Amino acid sequence: MEGYIINLNKVKDEDLIVYILTKRNIHTLYRFYGARHGTINMGFKIDYEIEPSAKSTIGRLKDVIHIGFPWINNNQLLQLWQNFLQLFYPHLKDSEDIGDFYYDLLESAAYEWNKQNPKRVAIESYVKLLEHEGRLHKEFECFLCSQKIEASVSLIRAYLPVHEECTHTLSINIQGLLELYNNKSTLFLNDIEVERLWRVLLEGL
Ligand SMILES: [Zn+2]
Repeated sequence: MEGYIINLNKVKDEDLIVYILTKRNIHTLYRFYGARHGTINMGFKIDYEIEPSAKSTIGRLKDVIHIGFPWINNNQLLQLWQNFLQLFYPHLKDSEDIGDFYYDLLESAAYEWNKQNPKRVAIESYVKLLEHEGRLHKEFECFLCSQKIEASVSLIRAYLPVHEECTHTLSINIQGLLELYNNKSTLFLNDIEVERLWRVLLEGL
């Protein structure tokens, strides 16, 4: 089967517990360190088999094949990808049967990652996620003071809208936000706004 590595925990010696996001759920698997294995890393897409273990409830990860992206050798793109993917495990770890939404979201993000600024791809993907989870706030009411926001929307974690003056953070132009929310496009956001939204995203899904 295929999936994305969204978390790695080192256990004894060089062994690893590997958490893989698949089309249905998250697989937690044990990987023995050994020279016969190829390298695996955070964010990699892999094809693999699961070998049930008699001694443990955790199966063993085996027959791993790394499915590379065209941009995999670009360190900067890979680093941003890893930063983005590490947000998914804390968000999904307690969910059962998460369905194919998250896997498909990563599939299209991976495809787009080198086609434009990857931070824009991440932000657009995140807005799709918020909408999927019913958490996208299209009504601009301040999360902190509960008053309507007429101008100068700022966003805090989970892209909750707030007054610029309530948080003293960079405001995002409303037309750009509406384009993002309605068409999942960052076209009308400038690079400074994109950087701000990327930083907010890194605080957690
Ligand atoms: Zn306010």
